[in-house]
Amino acid sequence: QAKADGRSRIRLFSFELEEKLVARKALENDLREALQRSEMEIHYQPLLNTASKRIEGYEALLRWKRGSFGYVSPAEFIPVAEEIGVIDTLGEWVLREACRDAAAWPSDITVAVNLSPVQFRAGNLVRNTLRALSDTGLSARRLELEITESVLLEATEKTLATLHQLKQLGLRIALDDFGTGYSSLSYLSSFPFDKIKIDKTFIQDLSSRSDALAVVELVVDLGKKLGIRTTAEGVETEAQMIRLQEIGCSQVQGFLFAKPQPAACLDFNVIGRLAAPVLASAGFGKSS
Ligand code: C2E
Ligand code: MG
Ligand code: MG
Ligand code: MG
Repeated sequence: QAKADGRSRIRLFSFELEEKLVARKALENDLREALQRSEMEIHYQPLLNTASKRIEGYEALLRWKRGSFGYVSPAEFIPVAEEIGVIDTLGEWVLREACRDAAAWPSDITVAVNLSPVQFRAGNLVRNTLRALSDTGLSARRLELEITESVLLEATEKTLATLHQLKQLGLRIALDDFGTGYSSLSYLSSFPFDKIKIDKTFIQDLSSRSDALAVVELVVDLGKKLGIRTTAEGVETEAQMIRLQEIGCSQVQGFLFAKPQPAACLDFNVIGRLAAPVLASAGFGKSS
């Protein structure tokens, strides 16, 4: 009897495993065809200057509308795209689309594009970036590239050379998700970053945990001393916003102001209706 139970449990397990493998294969196949099927979209989330209270730019965030499945999160499909080798094509597409969209925006508004570490290995990143800029007519000073610490984890001479070449094009480089993963202060001296984006996990604990507050204060102060701007990701409450203003963080981004939205829906003057009352009380929207 026990033996039979064991066997059926094994069979159940392998059935579930097989189902997962089939689902994964289907996801991979759909992902390979997503671009041709025009299922990819870019949504944009505003980055606000904490002092002037103005929109300075937008972060481009990839969205995949996977047929009948609906939207799939980039957190779910980007790692798969990296594994199956389609991130280069996808990343090139995002870069070009984002530059094209931004070229139609007011000339003082920037666009930030996320880069996968895998895009650094291919060896054509600088050329692709240059081509995206020249084809769309976007000035390099309006483009910001966001990289994560994992790029620096394999900081070979080649990676650093690529980063320097990108900067020489006249664009800016931001260090994304700072404080997570393999954070090391040495990364900040290994390359002249233009911006540090403090990960949302710290921002969300800002008012409830003194250690999170200490980390944010430390990073903002460090940024000031090194002449690097700081952006707080994932600002959701007025309390967090007020704290960030007090600390002197340069830029804020989060659902408090606006969720990522399609290019056609952007309003460069008025900040998301969602947050209008909150913003008014935090000093936003008033001419300052
Ligand atoms: P990220 O670059 O750190 O982007 C910020 C993420 O925080 C976005 O998630 C954004 O929607 C979310 N977010 C913004 N404000 C708030 C808030 O107030 N609360 C909360 N809870 N979340 C907020 P999203 O769009 O799901 O993207 C997840 C990650 O996927 C990104 O993190 C980025 O690492 C990656 N990703 C997105 N688009 C691209 C892309 O085009 N290329 C690459 N390589 N990665 C991308
Ligand atoms: Mg980012
Ligand atoms: Mg981030
Ligand atoms: Mg993040």
